[in-house]
Amino acid sequence: CIERLNKTQQLNAFITETVDVSRDSAAETDKRRRKSKPMRWRKLEGLPIAVKDNFCTTGIRTSCATTMLQNYIPPYTATVVQRLQDEGAYLIGKTNMDEFAMGSGSVDGIHGPVRNPWKYKFTSSNLENQQTKPIEQVSMRNYHTSTDDWHIAGGSSGGSAAAVASGVCFGALGSDTGGSTRNPAAYCGVVGFKPTYGMLSRHGLVPLVNSMDVPALFSKTVDDASILFNVMAGHDVHDSTTVTDEFNHFTLPDNMNIKDLHIGIPKEYHAPGLSKDVHNAWEEAADMFEKAGAKVTQVSLPHTQYSILCYIVLNCCEVASNMARYDGIEFGHRAANEDSTEELYAATRHEGFNDVVRGRILAGNYFLLRQNYEKYFAKAMQVRRLISEDFKKVYASGVDILLTPTTLTTAPTYKWFTERDNRTSSEEQDIFTQPVNMAGVPAISVPSKLSTDGLPIGLQFIGQNFKDKELLTIAKWYE
Ligand code: GLN
Repeated sequence: CIERLNKTQQLNAFITETVDVSRDSAAETDKRRRKSKPMRWRKLEGLPIAVKDNFCTTGIRTSCATTMLQNYIPPYTATVVQRLQDEGAYLIGKTNMDEFAMGSGSVDGIHGPVRNPWKYKFTSSNLENQQTKPIEQVSMRNYHTSTDDWHIAGGSSGGSAAAVASGVCFGALGSDTGGSTRNPAAYCGVVGFKPTYGMLSRHGLVPLVNSMDVPALFSKTVDDASILFNVMAGHDVHDSTTVTDEFNHFTLPDNMNIKDLHIGIPKEYHAPGLSKDVHNAWEEAADMFEKAGAKVTQVSLPHTQYSILCYIVLNCCEVASNMARYDGIEFGHRAANEDSTEELYAATRHEGFNDVVRGRILAGNYFLLRQNYEKYFAKAMQVRRLISEDFKKVYASGVDILLTPTTLTTAPTYKWFTERDNRTSSEEQDIFTQPVNMAGVPAISVPSKLSTDGLPIGLQFIGQNFKDKELLTIAKWYE
């Protein structure tokens, strides 16, 4: 894994590497590990994992890819990370992302964009230069000067997806508020699992939208996702939204009775912009289930059409509230302007946040103004309930699971994605993933076939609340 980390520096997947690539050899690391080997048998002993840079890690910089927190060293570790480490997982590094997890490309963080390993041409001259740099500098390279074009990794957890896809680690943590784990998983050809809201603790995950944020995970196989999930799941006294029922650990069966399965195909997901390749992969998967004896029917989630707008309003409102804590006094960056408290706040927030974050704060505060509250925030809350009820109704009608694409297309090129006019259409890539967060249900993106131009396509299974095991079992069968 360390060798691969060295070879894939150009992907810019990591913000902070916690294994020292310049000095450590795999053998030395292994020797150290053996020495400290505990008596208890641990489920993830020595397995390298990566963690998105918005999960707090004691003594290790947690930057959220923002100037505001660029030197922030947390005094505690997120519960999900701690649980992985308690089972012996080895943290290889903190991964690159969009600033504060706002975005779907992993191009908007202060450390530069993440590159998708698929079809990427590594150039050896650049590689040699980078390997000799100390860790601190490695992640600060300027990627915008590059003239070649390459595909984005998706986002906002693009670094974690690229790390797993390039074989640097066996599993990685992402966060998923509107698709930030499933989208990059689809683009990078790996598994991306967002569990039911409340199954994994958010303690130590820097909040974006508290009512939708879910720690999520990347892996090569559905079985690996299930193993990691089982280590992390269950109640946490530090997060009152985690479920209090005792968590029953499970392993996935190798076989399942497909004949009893009822799969729903939401008709509204035949959305404008859906590429031919993705559409074909989706149809083939549905046919495959049908041939194996499953019942496959078309279903309707009529409020899907409002989901992007509804998500934007709710996201901005919670962002406006969450970002209020970054005032230059308690956390992170502080501007030099100390003429008055107000000016200090303003200068700090202007310097500390990028345009995307500032835009959402402004929009959120506008939606929350007394005269706008009913019109925007209250209305969006009502629409969110309707979106959530769409899922409930479909499942109440006897459907076990929904099969949909994860994204409209395969990974776009960096050039295309960052052109001004394409920003809006790239936001629309979240159309299949955002309704899931608003309803809180579990979903997983599983690699399907390759597109005609050789890029991975991801298909999404959407399950029922707290039926994470059933969802993973079906995904495993498909995989
Ligand atoms: N693209 C979405 C956004 O920018 C999703 C982000 C996420 O899931 N963290 O809000």
